[in-house]
Amino acid sequence: MILRPGKDARLAGGHLWIYAGEIARIEGAVADGGIVDVRTAEGRWVGRGFLNRQSTLTVRLLTRHPEEIDDTFLRRRLEQAVTYRRRVVGDATAYRVVFGEGDALPGLIVDRYGAILVVQTLALGMDVRKTTLVDQLIALHRPTAIFERNDPAVRRLEGLPVQTGWLYGVTDSRCEIREGPTRLLVDVARGQKTGFFLDQRENRAAVAAYLQGAEVLDAFCYTGGFAVHAALAGARQIHGIDSSEEAIALARENVALNGLADQCTFAVANVFDALRELVAEGRRFDAVILDPPAFARTKDALPRAIGGYKEINLRALKLVRPGGLLVSCSCSYHMGAPLLQQIVASAAVDAHRTVRLIERRGQGRDHPVHPAIPETDYLTCLILEVL
Ligand code: SAH
Repeated sequence: MILRPGKDARLAGGHLWIYAGEIARIEGAVADGGIVDVRTAEGRWVGRGFLNRQSTLTVRLLTRHPEEIDDTFLRRRLEQAVTYRRRVVGDATAYRVVFGEGDALPGLIVDRYGAILVVQTLALGMDVRKTTLVDQLIALHRPTAIFERNDPAVRRLEGLPVQTGWLYGVTDSRCEIREGPTRLLVDVARGQKTGFFLDQRENRAAVAAYLQGAEVLDAFCYTGGFAVHAALAGARQIHGIDSSEEAIALARENVALNGLADQCTFAVANVFDALRELVAEGRRFDAVILDPPAFARTKDALPRAIGGYKEINLRALKLVRPGGLLVSCSCSYHMGAPLLQQIVASAAVDAHRTVRLIERRGQGRDHPVHPAIPETDYLTCLILEVL
């Protein structure tokens, strides 16, 4: 595969992606999902990676060394991912085992929920190697079962079908995990994403540490992760809101499981409406947590998304008692930390409140950022004091 002239700058910076428009020609008869060597227009060998002509993201680089991409190669990368988790994952039975490009395994996501592994192969090159990957994961992690959650829409961009099911073993898709002091129920088949928002693990603990004695509003609470952490850390009262009935049902089970049912209440509602009503009722909280879904999935969606983030942050600020906290998150890469910070700042002006940034956090360290791939650095969690 030969790049067009001048199209090697991103790769030289460490990035792993090559788009269709950057390719001059593909030589030989490599099938999609196979391995191609990448050369610059001048003929210099850059590395090798997965080819998929059906995707605008046509090549994903796997290595810059002239090494064979075989089972041993994949095994080594999977082992490196395990070693890295030993370094960064503390007291938790659920965490991300492989974070795609962040682990130099483009298009592969593996999450651990106790004895269950959940796998997503989001690139054709990974998908065609699924059997090998499953064998290697069994050998490395000794799970009781492996579930395939290949239902993200991005699979379609690779020409791959949406599919879910057990790849190895069969067990109850509902399981109990532990995250620090919390016990949480997760359903790997029916839950959102791969069952739980593992990327917020460290932020749930960090935020909870500020909430002793607090009355907390947990907006976009999903199954109550922040709520359970907060209550166990000494928060007095937590109210969670989410639009998903299934999530709220599980949130109620989760607080009961942790003996916190008296302190936690939940409601199925649209957060936009609920915030407006709470403001109108004159309600106040010591802390408001905003953990919305990605409002900006594409760059084009950003202007509209900014309006959404601004609205919820403005209303949340109005609900915080003086001296209280606002926790404002964004999980869309297009809405990075600087932009979210600007939005919160301008919402604070409109709400006539003064805010200070206590912590600017990102995704948990089990979702390692590839320093050359901004797309891997997607989660922002701002913890602010509101006067
Ligand atoms: N804080 C959670 C993760 C939240 S993910 C945790 O730590 O586990 C975002 C959540 O927002 C999802 O549960 C989704 O069901 C919910 N959601 C999406 N749009 C919503 C809306 N308009 N109103 C209320 N909840 C919404």
